[in-house]
Amino acid sequence: MNFCVKCGCDCEESLDGLCIDCWLDGRSLTELPHHVDLKVCTNCGEFAVGEKWIKKDLIMAVQDAAVDALGVIDGVKVTGVSTSYECQDPYVYLVNVHSECDVLGYQTEHDASTIVRIKNNVCKRCSRQLGSYYESILQIRTGAKGLSPELREETLAFVEDYVGRLAATNKSIFITKMELVTGGVDVYLSSISLGKNLAREFSDIYCAETKESPKLVGQTTDGQDMYRLTYLVRLPEYHVGDVVIVDGRYCKLTRVSGSGGRTVDLMNFREKSVRRSDMTEIKLFEKSSDLKDATVINATGSEIQVLHPENYSTVDLKVPEGYDAGETVKVVTIEDNLYLVP
Ligand SMILES: [Zn+2]
Ligand SMILES: [Zn+2]
Repeated sequence: MNFCVKCGCDCEESLDGLCIDCWLDGRSLTELPHHVDLKVCTNCGEFAVGEKWIKKDLIMAVQDAAVDALGVIDGVKVTGVSTSYECQDPYVYLVNVHSECDVLGYQTEHDASTIVRIKNNVCKRCSRQLGSYYESILQIRTGAKGLSPELREETLAFVEDYVGRLAATNKSIFITKMELVTGGVDVYLSSISLGKNLAREFSDIYCAETKESPKLVGQTTDGQDMYRLTYLVRLPEYHVGDVVIVDGRYCKLTRVSGSGGRTVDLMNFREKSVRRSDMTEIKLFEKSSDLKDATVINATGSEIQVLHPENYSTVDLKVPEGYDAGETVKVVTIEDNLYLVP
């Protein structure tokens, strides 16, 4: 059995020679600094939490900032906190932190308060983005002619979607800018790997040819060479659905992937694979959007009769086995003859 040096009472446990009541008397169990600065990015609205920037509700961020600054003296365990606040102006909040405390199994509570001041700042990602920081350029081009507006929209939407998905979990990823240039579009990107991965995606999905070229732009603070990478992506002129010429044969292109393509021969409807390395030999004959519609008059087994879309004569067309013609079919004129594009 101990006794308290202050009040002299017998007590089972003592802290610094005092009974629990005398020890607690007038003692601040928790403490907060006079003020806490909370950094907010004026560009994206995220709040600084330690080394990170996090998206949060303002009031949550204010109260969390106060709780994070809470100091607890030795011998006290905080078992729960609750907060209340008073907005003094949009940049100044008085926050009270109420703590449930455990001192040697004895439950008590304590209040502390601080002023949370909102400080305008710019997070690292935004400062890089605003400062036009980039590490790689994706140059999207096509064969001889410039990029068509449709293909430009399609590829840029693809890039934005791809980057958007990565940026949702990785804040250092962004598109710095997109620039229309003669022959295509240049996309400036936050990292080298982003440019590299996008170039690979284009190669896989569009069967595009890609070429990378590094450029030395200086040195890092620790003396390493610093490069920017340019990824040239040359899109083929053809698309799935187009009529193309492969090995001198007129075909419909039915599939394009990283491993090559697939075609249907318009003369005999045989399917054929095209190796990736042979894809560059493919010549565009007619875009799918330029194919004409022909009205079907009659359908019997392996042939159908259609109205010629230009001179309205009746034309017999061969169709593949089991082909369901419907009311109109897509056709193409090759050397004055009309062919079905199945
Ligand atoms: Zn005492
Ligand atoms: Zn920001």
